Amino acid sequence: SVSVVLFTGDLRLHDHPPLRAALGGGREVVPLFVRDSAVEAAGFAVPNRRAFLADCLQDLDEGLRGRGGRLVVRSGDVVRETCAVATQSGADEVHMSGEHTRYARHREDRLRAALEADGRRLYVHDGVVTAVDPGTLTPAGSDHFAVFTPYHRRWAGHRLREPLGAPHRVPVPDGVHSEPLPVRTEVAGTSPGLAAGGETEGRRRLTAWLRTGAGAYEERHDDLAGDATSRLSPHLHFGTVSATEAVHRARRAGGPGAEAFVRQLCWRDFHRQVLAARPAASARDYRTRHDHWRTARTAADDIEAWRRGLTGYPVVDAAMRQLAHEGWMHNRGRLLTASFLAKTLYVDWRIGADHFLGLLVDGDIANNQLNWQWVAGTGTDSRPNRVLNPVLQGRRYDPDGAYVRRWVPELAGVSGPAVHELWKLPAAERARYDYPEPIVDLGEALARFRRARDLD
Ligand code: FAD
Repeated sequence: SVSVVLFTGDLRLHDHPPLRAALGGGREVVPLFVRDSAVEAAGFAVPNRRAFLADCLQDLDEGLRGRGGRLVVRSGDVVRETCAVATQSGADEVHMSGEHTRYARHREDRLRAALEADGRRLYVHDGVVTAVDPGTLTPAGSDHFAVFTPYHRRWAGHRLREPLGAPHRVPVPDGVHSEPLPVRTEVAGTSPGLAAGGETEGRRRLTAWLRTGAGAYEERHDDLAGDATSRLSPHLHFGTVSATEAVHRARRAGGPGAEAFVRQLCWRDFHRQVLAARPAASARDYRTRHDHWRTARTAADDIEAWRRGLTGYPVVDAAMRQLAHEGWMHNRGRLLTASFLAKTLYVDWRIGADHFLGLLVDGDIANNQLNWQWVAGTGTDSRPNRVLNPVLQGRRYDPDGAYVRRWVPELAGVSGPAVHELWKLPAAERARYDYPEPIVDLGEALARFRRARDLD
C-alpha cells in the first residue's frame, strides 16, 4: 500500500514524523511538494525565498534518491494536486505536518474533505514545524500567552518529543509524474549574497554553530560586525532544520550561550501561538495606540530613503543594504531599522513589514509581522514608547564602525566610530564623502512621536 507525504514548511528527512509514520508497516511513499498557486497569488513567493526553496527541493530530492526514492513536484492548487497524486499512485492516506496559520488550517480542512470524499484519510502530525505547537501551553483564562516571559517559563519546562533520525530507505512507487525541479540560478532578482538552502547545508550550519558559535552567543549576539548569530532562521523557516532537534542539541551542548539561543527559539513559538489565536495581528494593530501613522502618500521620500539605505544615519543604511544584498539582516539591524521607520519617521509599520517580507529569506508572517508590532509598540513590548536612537545604537552595537564600513562603501575612508557621527567631522573632510545628510532631525522626530502618542 501507498501513502503520500505532503511536504510544506518541513523540507527535511531528519526528524520528520509524517514521513516516519507514512513509511510504517513497509508502505511505499510518494514524497510530494506542491508549488502552491495560492501562495504565489498572495505575492509571498518572492525571489529570495523562491531561490532558497529551489535549493531545499534539490537537496530533498538528492536525499531521497540516496534512499531509493525521489521527490515529486507539482504546481497548482495544493488540494487538487495532492488528490491527483493520491489517485495516480493508489495511495489511501496522506500525511502532513500541522500548521496553525489561518491559511494552513483552511488548507487542511479542504484537503481532509476532498480526500475523505474519495475514501482516503488525512493524518496531520503536530510538533513538526514548531517545537511547541500553538494551543499546547495556555495561561489560566485564555487560549494563548500575550506576554513572552510567562510563556517562556512554561515553554522551558515543557517536555519535547525526542527527535527522529532520517529513514534509511524511502521506496517510491513508479509512474507518478513530477515536474522538473526548480533551479535556483534561474530565479531572477535574487539578492547576490543570498545564503545556500537545503537540509544538508542547514545541518552543517547547526552542527558548526553548536560546536564553535553558540558558546559566545550570549555576549556577542548584538555585535553587528561580529555577525555572531546562528543564521539558522531561513532553515527554520523552510524546516530544513527541525526546531525540536535544534533545542535538544543546544541543550545537550549546554552553557549560557546555548541556553540564550534556545530562548530565541522560544520566541519563534511564542509569535506563532499569538498569531494562531489572533490572526488579525498580522495586518492590524492588536493593541491600538491611536496612531495616525504617516503613509506611502505623506512620507514617500522618507520611505524611499529608508528602503534604499540613504537616510543619512549610517547604521540604519548599513542594515538596509545588508537586507538588499543578502536577503537577511542581523536582529539588531532589524530592531533599529524598524524603530527608525515606525517611530523616528513615524511611518505605518506595515509599510516596513511589507518591504522586509519582499526581501527576507526567512520572511515569515508570524515572526515578521509580530516583531514589527513589538518594535512599533502595538504588540507585546513592555516598553511600547521606547525609541531607539540610531546614533547611540550604532556606537553601542558597532563600536568600531566596521559594520557600517562593510555595507556603506562610500564611508569606507572614515576610521573608527566617527563613522556614526559624520556631522562632527571637519567640514572639509565631511565634504569628501558622497553620502546624504540625515533626512530627519532626531530631536524633532522624538517630539513628533511623543506628541502622536500623547506622552507629554
Ligand atoms: P539567532 O539569534 O541565531 O536566533 C536563533 C533563532 O531563533 C532564529 O533563527 C529564529 O528562528 C529565532 N528567533 C530569534 N529571534 C527571534 C525573534 N525576535 N522572533 C522570533 N524568532 C526569533 N525572524 C524570522 O525568522 N523571520 C522574519 O520574518 C523576521 N522578521 C523580523 C522583523 C523584525 C522587525 C524584527 C525585529 C525581527 C524579525 N525576526 C524575524 C526575528 C529575528 O531578527 C531573526 O529571527 C534573526 O535575526 C535571525 O537570525 P539568526 O538565525 O542568526 O538568529
